Amino acid sequence: MLLVLQNHSTEEERVQALDYVQNVVGQLRLQALSVEGRHLIVAETKHIGRDIYELLAAYPLIDHVLPIYTPYKLVSHLYKTERLSVVVGDDRYCQAVTIGGAQSTPVVIAGPCAVESREQLLTIALAVKEAGGTILRGGAFKPRTSPYQFQGLGLEGLSLLAEMRELTGLPVVTEVMEPAMVEVVGQYTDMLQIGARNMQNYPLLQACGQQRLPVLLKRGLSATIDEWLLAAEYIAAAGNINIVLCERGIRSYDPHTRNVLDLATVPLLREMTYLPVIVDPSHATGKSSLVHPMARASIAAGADGVMIEAHAHPELALCDSHQAITPHQLEKIVKDIHSIAILPDEEEGRIRDDHRIIYSSLTLR
Ligand code: PEP
Ligand code: MN
Repeated sequence: MLLVLQNHSTEEERVQALDYVQNVVGQLRLQALSVEGRHLIVAETKHIGRDIYELLAAYPLIDHVLPIYTPYKLVSHLYKTERLSVVVGDDRYCQAVTIGGAQSTPVVIAGPCAVESREQLLTIALAVKEAGGTILRGGAFKPRTSPYQFQGLGLEGLSLLAEMRELTGLPVVTEVMEPAMVEVVGQYTDMLQIGARNMQNYPLLQACGQQRLPVLLKRGLSATIDEWLLAAEYIAAAGNINIVLCERGIRSYDPHTRNVLDLATVPLLREMTYLPVIVDPSHATGKSSLVHPMARASIAAGADGVMIEAHAHPELALCDSHQAITPHQLEKIVKDIHSIAILPDEEEGRIRDDHRIIYSSLTLR
């Protein structure tokens, strides 16, 4: 449930209103949260009866009450309809990149699965830039299935990424695996990646919500869309709305592809949330030959960009070598997806309008 305060309410009145609401809903063991501007949000609409709505709506500082009938609130299209732009990087240190919003140029995040050495990273970072990639990726802390596999270079990997940002001007994104490391990793990167295996690591989601860098939230190995959006809600409820969702395929039964790329999520998420959505065709397919066609399909489905694993010598990659593509292949993908990228079209305007109608019909007064 969303409570909208009177226009021009002061900070003091906001605190007063939050106190009042907390008092009312506290009896139901629900929590009220103060979010941006004039908005207060209360968890779980369905536990609140008409009497409580009326009590809240009658409070003088509250202008109106909106139920939001989705389990996630702050990331819901019912909360906001305007698509969010997420800015990655700061022009003082690199070339900042905007993902989502009205942006029609798809973002291309590319780089190795793992940072392996200075030479490896330098070669591929320069090649990513040359190919037209806009953000450099690379794992310094790798969540590997086996404890005997290469686990990443850790802190050394982070400083190499920061060095490459300086050399190439590309902002960087890298994975963080535990809450205690969010601050340290944040000192070296422009965007924090939460990997599929950690999508439901709630303390990690909260820690990423309590800091200022944008977050790339990958879909869990077999996560439903509601679980994924609720994971995003954890980050948003902790104070950070700068979230980009990344579809990276889900588990299925056929071993020919590593995962099944669930491309229908792209247009579906555009109806459900205003957060940007990108696709990772590398982990979704696990096969370098499938990366290009699925990258094209992702952009055609309306994704705000792609994240692709690339390596100067894929056969030598210490991690995910079967899915890594060469710089030359990356260049072809970038050219191709730029020509496919579409501007927000009339259809999308219609979907937005439909939501506005639902939104206003939910208003109680
Ligand atoms: C990655 O992007 O390096 C990665 C480990 O991907 P995922 O979390 O999607 O498996
Ligand atoms: Mn990988």
